[in-house]
Amino acid sequence: MTYIADEKRYEEMIYNRCGQSGIQLPAISLGLWNNFSDNDAIENQREMLFKAFDLGITHFDLANNYGPPPGSAESNFGRIMKEDLASYRDELIISTKAGYRMWDGPYGDWGSRKYLISSLDQSLTRMGLDYVDIFYHHRPDPDTPLEETMLALDQIVRQGKALYVGISNYDAEQTKAAVEILEAQKTPFIIHQAAYSMLDRTIEQGLTDVLEQHGVGCIAFVPLAQGLLTNKYLSGIPKDSRAAKDHIPFLNEKDISSHVLQKVKQLNDIAVERGQSLAQMALVWVLQQKSVVSALIGASRASQIEENVRALSHTHFTDEEIKRINQILA
Ligand code: NDP
Repeated sequence: MTYIADEKRYEEMIYNRCGQSGIQLPAISLGLWNNFSDNDAIENQREMLFKAFDLGITHFDLANNYGPPPGSAESNFGRIMKEDLASYRDELIISTKAGYRMWDGPYGDWGSRKYLISSLDQSLTRMGLDYVDIFYHHRPDPDTPLEETMLALDQIVRQGKALYVGISNYDAEQTKAAVEILEAQKTPFIIHQAAYSMLDRTIEQGLTDVLEQHGVGCIAFVPLAQGLLTNKYLSGIPKDSRAAKDHIPFLNEKDISSHVLQKVKQLNDIAVERGQSLAQMALVWVLQQKSVVSALIGASRASQIEENVRALSHTHFTDEEIKRINQILA
């Protein structure tokens, strides 16, 4: 059946300006790191993308290596774009990245001009797109001169293969150095993709100041700590959760320690008092941070996306709530 997007899709979502750019991003964006691989049912992938777009999520985030196997998330997304979403291309912000190991040999990893440009060409082919809206360097490369990597990003924009560029996992100092090069070139560098959640507040120690100073937006990845900041692990590890899936090695039983669970339980109590789920509270919490324009969630089913977007109907925290949350996270 042909997919027709909900005509009310722009009524509830909040859109935030990304730094000092012309682009506004939805307060909640959807990432395809997990659950869009060849191990995952394409029908569920479709359902999640449709649900997201129907709720006003206009931004989908990918990377060359998302899968497994690497590349399969882009291929599956490309298939759904072609079959169902092609007519909505101009309503979407689609991003991809390169920076982690993608193919054998010395040219399929890190940050050389050779790798970035050829990887984006491959990504565009897999997704069946002429261009991406945002292309990121996925992680800093200690060996390639920063200028080479940044000028590759600049060249990619000038070639028309990306409209904007970003960096990811760069710390405050690395970001400052990157910004200087990109500003000198007038490259449309608008976004930094950084880990940020109630359980990982590293970006508050310098990075957000640099981003604010230079008018760069921050999109917060893993805002639910891969599901830890929901109520799902409070009474054990459900069979269908990420922590229980052998083919997803990024969250394991050992990450769900009693120390973390104790904090999660206390946070859950505050969420319940607010009339929200813990997932909802964790998402609006990251959006309180200066520079953060969007919480980049993952999901394994459409109902999670629905629940998470509903968080936006209650974004305010009282001073007392913030104080209690800070005490728990201290
Ligand atoms: P989250 O922290 O949002 O975790 C998502 C997981 O949380 C889901 O798969 C689901 O787990 C669970 N979840 C989501 N909503 C709910 C809910 N309402 N109730 C219960 N459980 C819920 O983010 P991800 O770890 O998935 O990462 C998000 C995106 O960030 C990625 O797709 C990617 O785009 C980006 N990213 C970027 C990185 C970078 O280096 N730049 C690194 C990592 C991620 P379950 O499967 O158990 O149901």
